[in-house]
Amino acid sequence: MLAADGRVRESWSVDDPDRAGLAAAALALRAHLAAHPGRLGVCADEKCADVYADASPAGHRRFCSLTCQNRTRTAAFRRRRARSG
Ligand SMILES: [Zn+2]
Repeated sequence: MLAADGRVRESWSVDDPDRAGLAAAALALRAHLAAHPGRLGVCADEKCADVYADASPAGHRRFCSLTCQNRTRTAAFRRRRARSG
């Protein structure tokens, strides 16, 4: 949308009011990614393909959730334990 000051502004509308939450979430994600480029990633868990937006201060996120992080750590622990004995 072109605003009165001549700058392009984001705008959105939905035909179904039940979809307003989804549209707002998509717009918030777009704004976050525009403000933090390179903060979108794919989960590092071998059994997951989810995508995440990294909002951590350091920007070193690797997993979509703690569940995936814990599953990967548990699998690595079991592999080390199996190799050692
Ligand atoms: Zn995951």
